[in-house]
Amino acid sequence: MDFAIEETEEQKKFRAEVRAFLEKNMPGGMEHHVDPVDQPREQYELRRELGRRLGKKGWLYPNFPKEYGGSDMSADNVMVLSEELAAVGSALPPYYDSGARMGAPTILVWGTEEHKKRFLPMMFRGDIRTWQLLSEPGAGSDLAGIKTTAIRDGDHYVVNGQKMWVGSAHGADYAWTILVTDPKGERHKNLSWFMIPMNLPGITVQPMDVLATGGEGGAGGGCKNAVFFDNVRVPAENLVGGENNGWKVATTHLEVEHGGTGRLNDRRVIYEFIDFCKETHDGHRIADDPDARAQIAELYIEAEITRLWALRNHWLSHAHKPRSYEGPQYSLRRKLSSLDIAERMLRIAGPYALTTDKRWAPLNAAIEYFQRDAITSLHPGATTDIQKVIMARRMGTGGREREQAGKLK
Ligand SMILES: Cc1cc2nc3c(=O)[nH]c(=O)nc-3n(C[C@H](O)[C@H](O)[C@H](O)COP(=O)(O)OP(=O)(O)OC[C@H]3O[C@@H](n4cnc5c(N)ncnc54)[C@H](O)[C@@H]3O)c2cc1C
Repeated sequence: MDFAIEETEEQKKFRAEVRAFLEKNMPGGMEHHVDPVDQPREQYELRRELGRRLGKKGWLYPNFPKEYGGSDMSADNVMVLSEELAAVGSALPPYYDSGARMGAPTILVWGTEEHKKRFLPMMFRGDIRTWQLLSEPGAGSDLAGIKTTAIRDGDHYVVNGQKMWVGSAHGADYAWTILVTDPKGERHKNLSWFMIPMNLPGITVQPMDVLATGGEGGAGGGCKNAVFFDNVRVPAENLVGGENNGWKVATTHLEVEHGGTGRLNDRRVIYEFIDFCKETHDGHRIADDPDARAQIAELYIEAEITRLWALRNHWLSHAHKPRSYEGPQYSLRRKLSSLDIAERMLRIAGPYALTTDKRWAPLNAAIEYFQRDAITSLHPGATTDIQKVIMARRMGTGGREREQAGKLK
């Protein structure tokens, strides 16, 4: 069966337009395959610059409405755009922007018109970078068990507590976060979402030392952080989706985080590795070895199945088709297939897959990063166990009623 997609004349034209745009607008000096944990500041700034250039055309968050700075772009053209960015070693968005990637679709569903006008254009133009702040030292899988409070005081909420495992290197302008607004309230009915400017007094960011970060589609996450809130006064109008309505609002955020919209072309390094195996290096071609060829075939199948599921979810959400367990199904698959692929790369490349020594490391050590990332990516955005729990609920196993997928626009 041939899964290749045939492009229409319009899509071919759009691909040429994107290529010409990128030729002209890729900032000079942007390096391919920088380890996101050690991304240098100047590399981050170059990715932000590309983001602003894409944002100017409405291409940074292209599937969002034009009136807020998107392009109302079709599902096919978004795919083309992200393929072309991947081909030049970048991604959509080109930098770690988890708060916008998941916060923007949530604001679109649950925010007021005032929230949409205030928050969406600055994200879509690339003027701000936003982190998502959910996990806490005592609450990861059990998100409803968070303890950081936001207590109303006149026109403000006063925030106290700590978030963990969040963000990236080089800071953020805003935090999209879930907090407890009624500490005595019933579980699930005591939470609210906020967009919080990170420059407010009382916010401290403390970097954590991590192996890898699941760097958001090659865009570069960098380190993770603990964020402390000490009597931070947040304007009341920054609460989005209604006070104590946060668990309902979370269903949209989590639908995106758990893969409900798919993630396009974020593992291009796998295909680059296959090309690497086909090339001659030091007079030797890895693909000439029959064992390596068998591993490459398996690895390719794993990568393609996951890529096609991402495309399916991208299309389902774009076309407003009924959705059920497809998000966690894809997310689980992506996590497990990354581990499988990492193991096969290790079998093929041996110690070369584990070195960061640029003299020996394939693809500027991106394979070594892939090894670390495959392991640490089992955890964020809901662990493999939790993806199975969600799938089971959506399938209605165990005598339960079938749980609905989170609402998307
Ligand atoms: C690289 C990385 C990046 C991250 N990025 C972010 C970020 O940007 N923003 C953010 O807010 N958080 C982030 N996190 C945090 C992440 O969301 C949590 O680590 C994750 O939700 C798991 O929570 P936990 O670490 O508290 O583990 P726990 O929830 O304590 O889980 C421990 C173990 O128990 C299992 N388990 C828990 N509950 C169940 C259950 N009901 N059924 C079956 N098994 C269960 C889990 O699968 C896991 O194996 C990141 C984490 C990592 C490692």
